[in-house]
Amino acid sequence: MKRPVLWLACALLFSCLSASARAGDTVSVAKVLSPDLIQLEDGTKIGLLGIGTPKSRAVTKQDCIEHLSNLIKGKTVVLEADTLVVDKNGKTLQRYVYLDGTLINMRMISDGYAAPSKTSHSLKAEFATAFADAKSSQRGSHATEKSTAEQCTATTQKGTRCKRYTTNLSGKCWQHE
Ligand SMILES: [Zn+2]
Repeated sequence: MKRPVLWLACALLFSCLSASARAGDTVSVAKVLSPDLIQLEDGTKIGLLGIGTPKSRAVTKQDCIEHLSNLIKGKTVVLEADTLVVDKNGKTLQRYVYLDGTLINMRMISDGYAAPSKTSHSLKAEFATAFADAKSSQRGSHATEKSTAEQCTATTQKGTRCKRYTTNLSGKCWQHE
């Protein structure tokens, strides 16, 4: 009779541990606070494991926030912990965020709206590959020109705004760049 009791104790302990670690939790995303930080409906903040804001002239931090919002704001997602990443007391939990089976952390990198962070985790190699792909396809932050033409920001000799349109990242046309 001792064995079943032991198993039950183990099962209970395990379920308590996973509950506190929010592993496999199904949650609703209320807000996107940062390209790598979301807020759940209960107010809990969750960090997206393994990613950070990209350094880029092509997209702003706000562009990245909007991209992540379009993907998961108001949606039900599944959070998963990584065995290589230890939860620290008082620190924001770092999680993989899945939407319908898609790993959003990696999707952000693939779309060019996030860069891999220095954190060690199980999917670091996959994230690096996704980053290299995004770079070679010039997606998002890797773009070398804007996707839509905007009016040149330079002022002409007459003192009026230049009327040319440009896709240059500088925001200036060929003459004023
Ligand atoms: Zn111009």
